[in-house]
Order: sequence, then C-alpha cells, then structure tokens
Amino acid sequence: DHLFNEKIDYVFKVVVIGDSAVGKSQILSRFTKNEFCFDSKSTIGVEFQTRTVSIKSKVIKAQIWDTAGQERYRAVTSAYYRGALGAMLVYDITKRPTFDHVARWVEELRAHADNSIVIMLIGNKADLVDLRTVPTEDAVEFAENQGLFFFETSALNGDNVDAAFFKLLEEIYNVVS
Ligand code: GDP
Ligand code: MG
Repeated sequence: DHLFNEKIDYVFKVVVIGDSAVGKSQILSRFTKNEFCFDSKSTIGVEFQTRTVSIKSKVIKAQIWDTAGQERYRAVTSAYYRGALGAMLVYDITKRPTFDHVARWVEELRAHADNSIVIMLIGNKADLVDLRTVPTEDAVEFAENQGLFFFETSALNGDNVDAAFFKLLEEIYNVVS
C-alpha cells in the first residue's frame, strides 16, 4: 500500500467463499502478502485484508473478506455479503465434493449479494496434479453456464493468484465505472 501515495480512487469489497479447507485463507495471504503459511490454523475472526493495486490508471484498494470458519452451508451471514462487488468462489481440484457444492454457493450469492456482483470461480491446489479429481473442462462448462469467470490457481506456488484477482478487480471496475 505504501507504493501509492496518491489518493485511492475506489475501494472494492471482495468476499472469498467456498467449502472449508479449499485454500481460501491461503489464496488471500498469497495475494495480500505474497505468503503461504504451512502451519496455518483455520481462520479465526480475521475480518479482511487489503491490497492496493493500479488498474487502468486508477488506484484501487481491494478489501478482501475471509469467512471466519463459517463455511457450513447457510452459516455465512448476509452481513458478510453486504456491499460486496466481487466474489472469489473457491473449490479444491482434488476434492470433487467441494466442486459439487459450488452451485449452492452461487445460490447463496444470488440470494444475499448484489445482483451485479462479479463472480470468479477458482479451482485451487492446481499444483497437486496427480491428485486431481475435477477436470478443468467441467469447471469451464459450469462457469460458462453460470456467467462466472474462471481460473485454476495454486496458493502454494502462487500460480494465477494475482491473475485471478486482477481479472476480478478489472471486471468490477468495468461494472462501477
Ligand atoms: P480454507 O479453510 O478454505 O481457508 O483453507 P486454508 O487456506 O486454511 O487451506 C487448507 C489447507 O490446504 C491447508 O493445509 C493449506 O496448506 C492447504 N492449501 C491451501 N492452498 C493450497 C494450494 O494451492 N496447494 C496445496 N498443495 N495446498 C494448499
Ligand atoms: Mg480459512
């Protein structure tokens, strides 16, 4: 954030959702701190982290919210979604059920979030190639049908994490500007 002395043009609230243990908190710390924590505890009480970036010569502060271990279906409250302009909906490419639940998370977003929310579907743990159980094509098809953007990422090695966030923030910018 210290790189930007100029004033912030926009603050975009982004929520990170998806089943437990898919890597939501790690994706967030990879994007905001460029860190991966090998012995991280499950999320407790942390509300949001920020990173300020420049998109189309605007200074944008991304305020990214992490669920405080409320990943059980319907446990995330509507306050969490309030004001969110974007959502990172994360599943684990090695755990099929986490992908099968993505449709429910989309329903949650449609029920609680703003209609214009931009949704990025994320297949995380792409580094675990030998353990993959969700083919990329399945996710591509789902994303196309639902009008979601889609990336596969690895919070572990950092692949595509910045790319996914930048794409999401750019699309939000297109919606609000
Ligand atoms: P959350 O419950 O969705 O917030 O998941 P966490 O971020 O706490 O991660 C759950 C587990 O998956 C932890 O043991 C992480 O170290 C691991 N993990 C997260 N992202 C990746 C990844 O991209 N690759 C691999 N191999 N492991 C990951
Ligand atoms: Mg977490």
